[in-house]
Amino acid sequence: MSKINPSLIVSDGCGNVVDIEEYYAVGMSGSCRIVDIPSDEWIPLPNGSWLMELPGRLPVGRDRDSGEIITLEPDESEKVVAVAAFVAPAYTIGYHAAWETLPKAPVLPLYAYAAVGWHDGQFYVPALRVDDSIRQDPSQFSADRIDMAAETVLQKYPDNRLVNHLVNNCALTYHCPAALNYLLNRWEMPLPTSQVCNSACLGCISLQKDSGVCSAQFRIEFTPTAEEIVEIAVPHLETAPEPVVSFGQGCEGEPLMNAQLLINTVQGIRRRTSKGTTNLNTNASLPDIVARLREAGLDSMRVSINSVRKIFYNRYFRPQNYSYENVLESIRVMKEKQGFVSINLFVFPGFTDQPEEVKILEKLIEEYQIDMIQWRNLNIDPEWYWEEMNPVEQEGIGVRNMINHFKEKFPDLLHGYFNPSLK
Ligand code: SF4
Repeated sequence: MSKINPSLIVSDGCGNVVDIEEYYAVGMSGSCRIVDIPSDEWIPLPNGSWLMELPGRLPVGRDRDSGEIITLEPDESEKVVAVAAFVAPAYTIGYHAAWETLPKAPVLPLYAYAAVGWHDGQFYVPALRVDDSIRQDPSQFSADRIDMAAETVLQKYPDNRLVNHLVNNCALTYHCPAALNYLLNRWEMPLPTSQVCNSACLGCISLQKDSGVCSAQFRIEFTPTAEEIVEIAVPHLETAPEPVVSFGQGCEGEPLMNAQLLINTVQGIRRRTSKGTTNLNTNASLPDIVARLREAGLDSMRVSINSVRKIFYNRYFRPQNYSYENVLESIRVMKEKQGFVSINLFVFPGFTDQPEEVKILEKLIEEYQIDMIQWRNLNIDPEWYWEEMNPVEQEGIGVRNMINHFKEKFPDLLHGYFNPSLK
């Protein structure tokens, strides 16, 4: 990886982005700790990423001559606004963008705000590709093929409400890559089922109440039948390359809330085919149901976690009638029954890589024989999250260093961003 020190970029408040050569781009780790980004951690901005202007926030950079950290202030003639990057799926960010928040600035919407700079004609971000799967690479999606496939699938399943939801809502409205891959009959397809949840996550992308931010999508408005799910899941598992079908999507609550429906569905699928992987993305709150799902034929479970420190898990997930111990018990029973377990780790630079978090995560991996870590960027306003978690200030070891550390310490542990096809 080349060693570079990109220049700071700012917006003029009208959607135009310019680079300011006098200043280096810097990053933020933890609460508001401004840090220099190691020169070998910058990569060209991946295709499928976006640049975002941050309302009520001023850009911060390091003066190339004096070496000072400077906040750029607007003047009568010129408005300057901080800029961050929302990095494409499969990449984990190492540092947030650096900015100074003005009074009355709005809470930022549910995205991960990566540092971004300019060098030699292109944008750069401190990020790492953690998954080689191209399933969500923009290059894989052509509008013409999608439109044709949508028509074909709707004609094939005219009475299936779940097909209608996946095609018209998820694929054609929200452009959800998993729903688009269902249309194109490949890789991982989504099986949303639940309208309710027994967590109240701070950064829930399907339901936000009185938080000042809106959810990224609305929850499914009906509960599909096992027949509707099995009707489309089996052909996908039988014919798609690297087939995975997954309960627990962004457009729903917690799938375990529909326990009997899921058990009937997995049994229905496994009576018809042994191919592919049946997966559950979940808060893992109900170990008894997890055990019954594994017995019914569920292959893998991905457990969402913002922190393995219970106090911060509770402050983020705000569990209703379950406990962090229930989550650990779900992992234990799935492993006891030889199921595959991955941790969907919400990565927040300067929090996730704190030495205390690293230590406890090592213990969890060891004790429960976790199969995989999915290093996913936490989509939330960093200052809001820090305020709510209110952790002790502890310098992080660096996200990239953390990932490398786990690769060295646990050679058999898989690393990625997406649910793997297990067979
Ligand atoms: S577990 Fe999922 S659906 Fe439930 S509150 Fe959290 S993000 Fe939302």
